[in-house]
Amino acid sequence: MITLKEIEQSTHQRVSYYHNSDTNLEAIIAIHSTALGPSLGGCRMMPYSTKEEALRDVLRLSEGMTYKAAIAGLKLGGGKAVILSDPKLDKTTNLLKSFGEFINELGGDYITAEDMGMTVKDMEIIKTKTKHVTGLSESLGGSGDPSDFTSYGTYVGIKTAANFKFGNDDLNGLSIAVQGLGNVGLKLIKYLSKYDIKIFVNDVDLEKINQCVSDYNATPVSSEELYDLDVDIFCPCAIGGIINDSTIKKMKFKIIAGAANNILEDYNKHGKMLFQKGVLYAPDYVINAGGLINIYNEFKDIYNRDDIFNQVSRIGDTLTNIFEISNRDSIATNIVSDKLATDIIEKAEKDKASRIKQIESCE
Ligand code: NAD
Repeated sequence: MITLKEIEQSTHQRVSYYHNSDTNLEAIIAIHSTALGPSLGGCRMMPYSTKEEALRDVLRLSEGMTYKAAIAGLKLGGGKAVILSDPKLDKTTNLLKSFGEFINELGGDYITAEDMGMTVKDMEIIKTKTKHVTGLSESLGGSGDPSDFTSYGTYVGIKTAANFKFGNDDLNGLSIAVQGLGNVGLKLIKYLSKYDIKIFVNDVDLEKINQCVSDYNATPVSSEELYDLDVDIFCPCAIGGIINDSTIKKMKFKIIAGAANNILEDYNKHGKMLFQKGVLYAPDYVINAGGLINIYNEFKDIYNRDDIFNQVSRIGDTLTNIFEISNRDSIATNIVSDKLATDIIEKAEKDKASRIKQIESCE
């Protein structure tokens, strides 16, 4: 049975559960905040083992989206959706259409996009029922694959962190281990390869490793060896939860900067442990915001790729600010960025409240 404790204790604005027995859709949409604008966040389709697990996931992810949009300077709130089914077995056109109807019921406060288990094609089906969809293919007026922007932002973030930690203007002479050679990881390695940098690569897919060895002279490293490696930078671009008690204990990395979401297994504890160990951590939702910045630009009248790359490059300034505050106040970088994001959101909420007061006093 689903527990309401998590919802009662959360700071979410609205959490909606939807069940449609005709289409077999069971979904939850969590809107964490619309203080800065409509909430935007992907829809994840997964065979969760319990409803509680799905609820916890959607609450945590939607809150993260609020901070991510705020710190990236976007007029967007944070939201997320989960569909509690197996994408390989249960995904039907009718299920996706009824998910579109569910989104419509929220009146534009939640805008969906792709996440795990969902594709651009699925977004196109959802679009037949609601206009509150992004991440569409270029043929339907979208901007296609966001990983060009995510990888560029991650590259900028890595250079910023190297500059802060070592005083280097570039990446020459450094070493890096990249975990995950997918859409983001491979494009990132192309940027890195402009420098005289030693690149180690790790993936569960042998073909991708071989590609990096032959294209970039990279050195393969197994998952067992990865966290013992004596390299300057670790760049996670695959899965979450990899920074934990056991990996922190052995790691010799000086910097952790990568695109993967939710890499800290225990957010507060492991962020603090990295700080105490002197590892400079570029908070994941700050460094990987390039894709979201791109999607935000889909709402504008003019979509200009060069201008978006410029916007994404500002991730560097945001990170420098976070690193400086972290150093000055002796606070872990992830906690500094949460505080900066919360300040932006609280200011927007106050401004909104005072505008409403002004209107009421004029009436
Ligand atoms: P992807 O699915 O294209 O690539 C992931 C890669 O990781 C694959 O090559 C896969 O084989 C590898 N992998 C999976 N499990 C692994 C493991 N246990 N060990 C090592 N390698 C493993 O994904 P992507 O789009 O490149 O995204 C990478 C990460 O960045 C994800 O965590 C994603 O949530 C995050 N992210 C991506 C974007 C984007 O624009 N694509 C935006 C923000 C965040």
